[in-house]
Formats: sequence, structure tokens, C-alpha cells
Amino acid sequence: MKIAVIGTGYVGLVAGAGFAEFGNDVTCVDVDAARVAALAGGAIPIYEPGLDDLVHRNAAEGRLRFTTELAPAVAGADVVIIAVGTPQGNYGLGANLEQVWTAGRDVARALTGFAVIATKSTVPVGTADRLKEILAADSAHPFAVASNPEFLKEGDAVNDFMKPARIIIGCDDERGIAAMRNLYAPFVRTADRVLVMDVRSAELSKYAANAMLATRISFMNELARLAEMVGADIESVRSGIGSDPRIGSKFLFPGPGFGGSCFPKDIRALAHTAHGHGIELSVVEAADRANERQKRLLASRVRQHFGGASLSGRRVALWGLAFKPGTDDVRESPALAIADDLATAGAEVTAYDPAAADTFRAQMGDRVSIASDMYAALDGADALVLVTEWKQFRRPDFPRIRSAMRGTALFDGRNIWNPAELTALGFHYYGIGRPRPPR
Ligand code: NAD
Repeated sequence: MKIAVIGTGYVGLVAGAGFAEFGNDVTCVDVDAARVAALAGGAIPIYEPGLDDLVHRNAAEGRLRFTTELAPAVAGADVVIIAVGTPQGNYGLGANLEQVWTAGRDVARALTGFAVIATKSTVPVGTADRLKEILAADSAHPFAVASNPEFLKEGDAVNDFMKPARIIIGCDDERGIAAMRNLYAPFVRTADRVLVMDVRSAELSKYAANAMLATRISFMNELARLAEMVGADIESVRSGIGSDPRIGSKFLFPGPGFGGSCFPKDIRALAHTAHGHGIELSVVEAADRANERQKRLLASRVRQHFGGASLSGRRVALWGLAFKPGTDDVRESPALAIADDLATAGAEVTAYDPAAADTFRAQMGDRVSIASDMYAALDGADALVLVTEWKQFRRPDFPRIRSAMRGTALFDGRNIWNPAELTALGFHYYGIGRPRPPR
């Protein structure tokens, strides 16, 4: 099939390369000329395991191209995938859909025959209907509109895309449904995991999935606070409830709060949609509020440890800046809030991340120093705060940490270290929702 993908961010680039891998002829379009030039020259602008191989192989074999010219990419396409950004609006909590409308208008004028225009961007209920109107106003050709929400996880995006747990196609046009089924047939050869539904249900499904996942995290973070107050260990509670098949063990990890380009903006957009219909999604709104509070927790613990508000003269090391392991994405990462709070309190902050140093620096400027090595970040530190659980942080050389640091305070934001072991080594250990071992 001939496919045009509009937007070459985390979603568009992975999707474009994934469709090309199954033999489709794919052109990826972006308005960012520097990004397109980089991609055309073989540079991959984002860090995502396995993506460089996938892009290079398909580009070399002539099935994957990059351009800023939308019209030739869309001409003759069977399917046009819209994967542009839908950030939080500047003046409210709803999604800003300007990129989608612009793409829609450009696609309408570029159609040369029937095509399915599918939104992979996360968009509020009703977007496909509005997109249909925009397309109809400018297109001289028949088309179908579909909602095809994307469920990939950054850090494991290629795997998720190539082996999807489910594919949702929201469409009310038989020709459109047939084309979308055709597109995804190679992805679901072992079991048909394609769910066809009406457009609005497809749009809502994506927000519902993210809201459910975000709520689980906030629920555990709130329980962790209570566990500390009552002398329980949230890790035992997590095992205790996760073994119930109705609950399941995934997404029950307490931590420094969720971040990323999706959960925070999507739960706000969902709550905003509900308000527009006179309804309050109180659970979803509470999950957002609990998360904002949680992002401030680790820095306030550090301040408490040092006996007050000011951290002047204190050196604090941060391990992990990306919002999750496996990505260079720091959008809404709790590390931003933590670094900001620590620096504001006067601490000298040195951070290390295996992939996100540049993206973090772009947001924080020089308020935080970036070390080139995880142990170098610890030089003379009074405290170490683990924010993102990259694999290399799971079993570090603790005696080396002990001798590199000036102080002894360890703040384990992911509960990945053994409190008793660290206490025996002379550290002051703080987890999330865990009792502090006696010293
Ligand atoms: P991104 O910001 O990384 O990429 C968006 C790209 O679209 C940018 O490169 C931008 O230059 C380009 N663009 C904007 N307007 C354009 C236009 N008119 N024509 C061509 N290109 C244009 O965004 P992302 O993280 O890939 O997310 C895209 C969408 O997918 C969002 O709606 C997001 O919520 C959703 N989503 C993201 C993820 C994720 O993990 N990142 C997962 C599922 C869904």
C-alpha cells in the first residue's frame, strides 16, 4: 500500500518505519525542515531502542522517505496517517488541535483519489467529525476518516508497534474499514487483535486507557504516603494486591509521580471534555492533583533530611532525568520538578542520565550540571536522588557510591534498592512508602 505519515515524532516515525517494514511504500512528512534533513541524512532525532535499524534498513531499501512536501506524499496514497502533536492548550486544559487542523486542510487539497485519513494523534472525542468537515470543505475527492489511536510506550515503542496488544479502528465507512484492516493485517497474523468500533468510542478508548493507567499510579502513590504513616511497607502491599487477577501486578509501582508527553496532558484533556458536557470526572482529576503533589515529594524529603528549607551549600546528585527508562524524552518528567525545587532551595545539583542529558539541558539550562558518568555525578554529593530506574542504576557499586559521596543520604524514588543492605553500608535510606530501617 502507499502510505503518507504526517508528523515524524515518536509516534509518526515509529509508525512510518513499522509500516515500511511490512513492504509498504511510506513517505513521512514533517514541517520541521531540520528534522526532515536529519532523517533524510540517516540521523535519528529521538532515542528509541531498535528504531535506527528499522529506519535505516527501510530507507536503504527504498520503502521509506522523508520530506517537507506534503502534496506529493499524499497524492495517490491509500492511507494518510496523521501523527502530529496535540499538546495541552496554552490557555486551558483541553488539547490544542491546531496541528491536526492544519494537516487536515493540507491533506484535503493534496488528495488525488479515494484515501482513508486516520488520526493516530491522541484527539478528543468529536475530532474525527470536525476533521471530516474540514476535509470535505477542501477536497475534490471521496475519502473516509478513521480514528486509529496509538498505544505504543516510549522506550519500547518499536516492539509495541510491531507486536501490538490491540489495534483500534474507529470508522463508519466500509471502504475505510477494509483499507485499515488491510494495512494492519501483517501485524496480527497470529491472532486478530483488530477492534473495529465507531469513531467516538475509538477516540474515547485512548483517553480512557491513559486515565486508567495514570489513576493506578496515583492510587499507589497515595497509598504509599499512608503506608509510611501507619508503618506498613508499600512493596508488601503491592505484592499483596497485585496477585489478585482482578487487579493484576502491572502499573502498581509507587514512584516520584508520572510524567511524559501523554498521561498529564491526556488526563487533563479528558477532564476538560467532561466539563464541556457538564460532567466532572472526579477520579481522573484527583489522579492529576495527586500526581502534581507527588512530583514535589522527593525534593521536600531532601530538604527535611537536611533540617529545613534551605539547601544552600548542599550538593545533590540526580540519577535519571527521562520520564521513564529507555527514552530521551523529558516532557513533564518528575526530574524537572525535583531539580527545579532543589536548585530553588539553593542546592548545587549534578545530574546523570544515559540518554536524556541534552533534552534535559534544553529545558533546565545551566541551573543543573550534567555529569558524563553516573559515578562522576556523585563527586562530593551530600545526597543521591534516584528518579528514573534505568537498568544500570539497579545494582550499582554501593561501596564506590559511599566513597564518592561526602554525605550518606540516598533517596530511592523507585524502591529498587534494598533498605537493610544500604543501611548496613552506612547510608541513610529513604524509599517511597517504606519504613526506614533502624540504624
Ligand atoms: P511529537 O511532538 O514528538 O511529534 C509531532 C511531530 O509533528 C513534530 O515533529 C512536528 O514538527 C510535526 N508536525 C506538526 N504539525 C505538522 C504538520 N502540519 N505537518 C507535518 N508535520 C507536523 O509528538 P509525538 O510524541 O509523536 O505524539 C504525536 C501524537 O501521538 C500526540 O497526539 C500524542 O499524544 C500521541 N501519542 C504519543 C505517544 C508517545 O508515546 N509519544 C503515544 C501514543 C500517542
